[in-house]
Parts: sequence; C-alpha cells; structure tokens
Amino acid sequence: MNELTFLGSNINLVKAHNLRALLLSLLYEGSVSRVELAEKTSLSTTTVTNLISELRDQGIVFEEGLEETSGRRRVGRPRTALHLVADARFAVGVHIGIGMFRVTVTNLFAEMICSNIVQFDLEAPAEQVLEMIAEWIEKTIDDSHVNRQRIIGVGIGASGLVNYQTGVNILAPSLKWHDVPVREILTSKLNIPVVVDNNVRAMALAEAFFGAGRGVNSLAFVYGRVGVGAGFVVGGQIFRGSSAGAGEIGHTIIIPEGGQLCRCGKRGCLETLVSETSLISQAMEIAATHPDGLLSQHLNQEDGGRTIERIFAAARAGDQKTRKMIEQCACYLGMALANLVNVINPELILLGGLFAQSEELILPVAENTMRELSFAGLGEKVRVQTTSFGWRAGVIGASALALTTFFYHQAEGI
Ligand SMILES: [Zn+2]
Repeated sequence: MNELTFLGSNINLVKAHNLRALLLSLLYEGSVSRVELAEKTSLSTTTVTNLISELRDQGIVFEEGLEETSGRRRVGRPRTALHLVADARFAVGVHIGIGMFRVTVTNLFAEMICSNIVQFDLEAPAEQVLEMIAEWIEKTIDDSHVNRQRIIGVGIGASGLVNYQTGVNILAPSLKWHDVPVREILTSKLNIPVVVDNNVRAMALAEAFFGAGRGVNSLAFVYGRVGVGAGFVVGGQIFRGSSAGAGEIGHTIIIPEGGQLCRCGKRGCLETLVSETSLISQAMEIAATHPDGLLSQHLNQEDGGRTIERIFAAARAGDQKTRKMIEQCACYLGMALANLVNVINPELILLGGLFAQSEELILPVAENTMRELSFAGLGEKVRVQTTSFGWRAGVIGASALALTTFFYHQAEGI
C-alpha cells in the first residue's frame, strides 16, 4: 500500500499497482464502500468502479447492500459494501521453528483450511530440511483439496536474520543456518511464488491484517521461544529497518556487567534472561536444590507435556520459587518493553510464544514494569495483550505474508 517509487510506469504497471492498492485495502479493512475505498487508495471512484467490476467478474469481490440508518430515502445508487470472497483464493504459510515446522493452507481471511506439523533433525543440512518443507507443502495442498490454480503464493516465516528482498536466511544460530537461499531453493522445487521473511515480522503482519491489530496504526509483536524477537507494523506495512535486523529485541543488553554469555557472543542480552532455554535452565537449578518441591514433582511426572509447560504448571500449582523466578523474567521483559515503547511508541504490544502460553503469570508484571519504566508516561496508553492466534501465530503470519505480497499478481494475471 502506498509504496514509494521513483520509477516510471507503463499503463499495465499502473493498473497492477492500483489493483494491489485495492486488494490490500480490502484485506486490511474487511468491508468497505466504494467511496471509502476511493478515499483510502486516492483513486478516482471511476477507477475503483472499473477495477471492482473486474474483480467481481473474477469472483474475488462481492457487493452487498447496506441498510439505511437515517430512515430517509436516499437519492441515486444505494450504498453498498464490498467484501472479498473468502475462498476465492488461498495461500500457503510455513513457520520454520527450531526442530519443527508447521505448514498451513488458508483462505483470503487467513482462516486455516488444513495444517501439518513436522519435526526435523537440527543436525540436518538446510537443503535437506527445505526439501522436506517442499514435500509437506505439496502434501498439505493435496490434503486441503484446494485447486492449486487458486493458490497465490507461499509465505515462509523463518527464525533469525532474513533478507526479505533476496529471500536469503542470513543467520539463524539455533538452526545453524548461514546464508541459506530459502526462496531460491523452494521456488525451484514448487511451481508457486515464494516470499520469505523473519517469522516474528510475519506474526505482526497477521495481527495487523487479521487479528487484534486491525485498525491499529502501529503495533509491536514480541515473541519468545528459543530466541526472543520483535516485529513492527506501521500503517499496514512491516518495518524492516535499513538491513534485515529491525526487531532484534532479544539482543538488547539488560545486564551490562556480569550477565550470562548469549549465543550472539555478548553478555546480558534479554534472551539470556527470558527465553525458553533460560527459563528451563533456571527451573532445573530450583529443582536440583529442592528435589521434593512441587516443581520437581511436575518435572518428573510422566506424560506431563513439554518441559516449559510443566514449569508453568508448577507455578500455577503454587510453587513459590518457580513463581518468583517467572516474575523476575517478567520484570526483565517489562524493562525491554519500556525501552521499545521509548523508541517506537506503539499503540499496541502483542506477546506470543511462551509469553502467551504463560499469560497470567507473565503479562501483568511485564505490563506494570513497562508502564513504570517508560519515559514520561509514554507507556500509559500502550495496550498490551497476547496474540490473537495462539500457537497458530507463526503459520497464519507466514500466510499473511504471502497474501499481502502476491495477491495482486494473481488478480492481474487472470
Ligand atoms: Zn545476544
């Protein structure tokens, strides 16, 4: 939307650009009248009418009459609302996590039609993992029974530093990936356009278009798992910074002296204090010194779920040491959020991953700390809540990335 460009343009490019603006506005707004659409896109109502009529013929847009609220009869054409047809097109989203990936097929409303979760060996070379991902994309498309011709593209949300322009995963320490040309490899295996970005940026985008961020001008998504990252969306656009690194909140320094060594080589990074790895290692220390405590009982339980879930369960069951440890983590997270508020002052902060999983344990403390520490009451108006999509945030984010990147290509080509 509203991309700045200094390039000249021929008539077809202008049309494609206008279609893109219309389709993204429809994705972003959900339901909108022609007049509003013309205002939002700065296109003339005639251009909007012509393009919408093409999109309607293609079955992408439908129009419905709006009820008159004034009670007076209107003169001229009745007011109508334009909507996208949810199942007119589809997108594939892939969230590459640490040792597992999720694949989904969604419709234009980012509603999941079908999804799969697959584990992979962290020692396997990147090429092999991408081969598996390509196979599972094909399988998930088959499982969804969606017409392949209606799939507009594949979005990949990968951890670490990702160059969106080139589709290269520059560095993902947890995966041991370095300069992996993800887009090139997957495009050569699938006959569908592929777009790659950082997974947390993709999650922020999904919230802006389809979740709690709808109608919000600026939002930050903060995700914690093995690493801790952030994504920013301002005015419906992802903010990526000058290179690939906007949002590396996990490597902001919280303890400048005597902090633990981070995998980035620095000491005292946020990630060393609040990541899943950090919480687990702190919990293990508590369990070792209190072998009969509630935490040890939860950790030793058979079929108690993932380690991090057992730790949260022990805290919920009343293990005071575990609660205190989590509270301390929430304080550190709150400090980082205050710094973030001071720098970008977002309207909304959304927490995902383990921060959403432990919402009632972490969010109140993190939020209070953020409000106390942010400059001159800047934090007072910032809303803080957990992601709208739970564990689906990653795949829905990746799918949103595909929808917002490729929608106009498909519409133009029909
Ligand atoms: Zn670090």
